[in-house]
Amino acid sequence: MQKILLYYKFTPVKDPELLKLWQKTLCDSLGLRGRILVSRQGINGTVGGNIDDLKSYCKATKQFPGFKDIVFKWSEGGRDNFPRMSVKVKPELVAFESWQEIEVNERGVVDGGTHLKPEQVHELVEQYGDDVVFFDGRNQYEAKVGRFKNAIVPDTRTSRDFIPELESGKYDHLKDKKIVSYCTGGIRCELLSAMMKKRGFEDVYQIDGGIVKYGEKYGDDGLWEGQLYVFDSRMGVDFSDHATVIGECIHCQGRTSNYENCALPSCNDLVLICETCKQTPDKLYHTSECAKATV
Ligand SMILES: [Zn+2]
Ligand SMILES: [Zn+2]
Repeated sequence: MQKILLYYKFTPVKDPELLKLWQKTLCDSLGLRGRILVSRQGINGTVGGNIDDLKSYCKATKQFPGFKDIVFKWSEGGRDNFPRMSVKVKPELVAFESWQEIEVNERGVVDGGTHLKPEQVHELVEQYGDDVVFFDGRNQYEAKVGRFKNAIVPDTRTSRDFIPELESGKYDHLKDKKIVSYCTGGIRCELLSAMMKKRGFEDVYQIDGGIVKYGEKYGDDGLWEGQLYVFDSRMGVDFSDHATVIGECIHCQGRTSNYENCALPSCNDLVLICETCKQTPDKLYHTSECAKATV
């Protein structure tokens, strides 16, 4: 029986290169495949394999000082979902380019947003109403098909765009609101919530386990709307049989969750194009400029 493990842990790592070698040797000896990122901030991984081998992996990894209380999430899938076993050292666990300003200690990211369980998110909204603002910590294209109702969606193509966005002044009117930052599984908001606090947002929260945990609890009967974008061939997952479609075709504005890459190779933007428009070759380009550029 095969499974996939997902996990992350923020804790100081003195020698990321050594941790990388150890993790690579461990994974290879257990026949696992996947992707692991290590940095001075900690570790972030997705690995697939036999359940028994994955259990051995958890046990061994927990021996590392600081990884004792790591939370491993189990998910469907296996070894064959990955082409190889890759372990890399990077300056930070998410490419916000904020590693110089982020401090990590034994308890995690220093001065990050307050963690909320899904039910605490609802309590906060019941108590403070419009003073609570949801802030999407993902790339904009992820939010196009699903997001919290009335969420602020920053203009971001990659995580690198967050710092300029936060410093642009566009969100200054939210600095005294209660900001609930959210992302897929929670790792991005561990860092983003700390970056926001450093930039004057006074009351910042993050959702424990991210949208995934929230969706497990409330599905489509809470404050979430649409699909959850995922970084594998599925592209999007619904929480229930009554998920709403909120994505809009860039050509006809009809409702769709169908992603296409712009047909101009030098553009390649990931955009929503509905099944009908997709039949017209011209509309496989995301703008008329892109369509013209190929002629
Ligand atoms: Zn369309
Ligand atoms: Zn294009």
